[in-house]
Amino acid sequence: MDGDVVYSKKKTNAAAVTSSSSSSSSSRKRPRRITSTKPNYKEKEEVEAPTASDIEDFSFSGKETLEIRAFLLEWYDLNQRDLPWRRISSSNEGKGDNDEEGSERRAYAVWVSEVMLQQTRVQAVIGYFNRWMQKWPTLGHLARASIEEVNEMWAGLGYYRRARYLLEGAKKIVEEGEFPKTVSSLRKVPGIGDYTAGAIASIAFKEAVPVVDGNVVRVVARLKAISANPKSTIKNFWKLSGQLVDPSRPGDFNQALMELGATVCTPLSPSCSLCPVSAHCRALSLATQESSAQVTDYPIKVVKSKPRHDFSAVTVVEILEGKDTTDELQTDGRFLLVKRPEEGLLAGLWEFPSVLVGVEADLATRRHAIDQFLKMSFKLDLKKSCTIVLREYIGEYVHVFSHIRLKMYVELLVIRLKGGTHVLHGKPDSKTMAWKSVETKALSSMGLTSGVRKVYSMIQKFKQDKSKPIPVKATKKNIVSKTKQNRC
Ligand code: SF4
Repeated sequence: MDGDVVYSKKKTNAAAVTSSSSSSSSSRKRPRRITSTKPNYKEKEEVEAPTASDIEDFSFSGKETLEIRAFLLEWYDLNQRDLPWRRISSSNEGKGDNDEEGSERRAYAVWVSEVMLQQTRVQAVIGYFNRWMQKWPTLGHLARASIEEVNEMWAGLGYYRRARYLLEGAKKIVEEGEFPKTVSSLRKVPGIGDYTAGAIASIAFKEAVPVVDGNVVRVVARLKAISANPKSTIKNFWKLSGQLVDPSRPGDFNQALMELGATVCTPLSPSCSLCPVSAHCRALSLATQESSAQVTDYPIKVVKSKPRHDFSAVTVVEILEGKDTTDELQTDGRFLLVKRPEEGLLAGLWEFPSVLVGVEADLATRRHAIDQFLKMSFKLDLKKSCTIVLREYIGEYVHVFSHIRLKMYVELLVIRLKGGTHVLHGKPDSKTMAWKSVETKALSSMGLTSGVRKVYSMIQKFKQDKSKPIPVKATKKNIVSKTKQNRC
């Protein structure tokens, strides 16, 4: 994941154990491969994904478990990255990890960082995390924040629902008066799933529970050479990881396993020669025995389903106020924003008025759909209740979500309302359909999604280009008149 790991030059036990492993490798079995009856995977169609029960017999022996724990923790102590969320408990000067306040501070930091890490790379998270902790250093501070502030802080990370859950979870914990300390109690907090609960409980409160993310799945699949589809057998990965967790240092162990996957046992080019647990790696053992086998054969690659293609007409409605000017595009009006429904994609976030349209929708069809939307939502009749100063198609922009590829046809509509914004139907921020009109300055500082920001930057660029003086063509007439002027 990141290339910033500084490996210690101190020799780990791995090398020593690797040599001893070669003698025992012949006794290791290849994972079973069964002819597929229901091929789901393009790249491995001949392999049937074993069911959950098929891999139940994979387990770590007592000796294996002890050695993996010891080697991995030793490696982690020497090589762990210095990340801001790992410093939180030690920054509580004079108090150790075990004091209540320190553990809760750590739990909060782990929670925020883990949710952010589900969104993007470690390096990108560092800036977001530092800004977040500066604004809301404790759970109590976060619980008093507004959703607008949280969205603003989260802008650019995507999956805004996760940010909303962080806020809701903080409010709930503060209300109840105590930070939950176990996986079972943490799971009751909105937005906290198995992964985050395991991370908080093990890292902050030392509960000996596993944490399974993509990195852990990869390492465990390789250690045991498991060919099963990790998606359909994920429970078994939790079970196997649970066997490995060190009861005296569960948090460090879980972080070590994830760190190994992120920095050494990477998806495409694992650095097996630097791996502290290579002696226990079946995938490596098989790759050493057979030239056609590779450690990257594990875990099996699951072909992602194709994203759905959606199309939408997006109209940036700018409402001009005050007196007419000669250059309407230079006058910043107020922009109409609509709040998305509280459920579904980008729930509760603000966007420019938009309507889903069909793939073949031409400009006239899209305009008709938007006109209907404005009429229905705001009683804004473009023919009767306003003067259209400008209406122009700007261009298209494709935004890719995890499961949807959304093509947006963007248009700018500049209007003057006959009677001011109060003629628009409904109270702003009403529960039925929340909307508001905001100035350019406020728009720039709002927590808008990257898709909305992109649309807004398209509008700004259009305005800038439009306001540039049009270069005069060097026609014969121009040249003659310029020559005459020069003579004068
Ligand atoms: S594949 Fe390589 S890096 Fe990954 S666990 Fe095995 S030996 Fe370690």
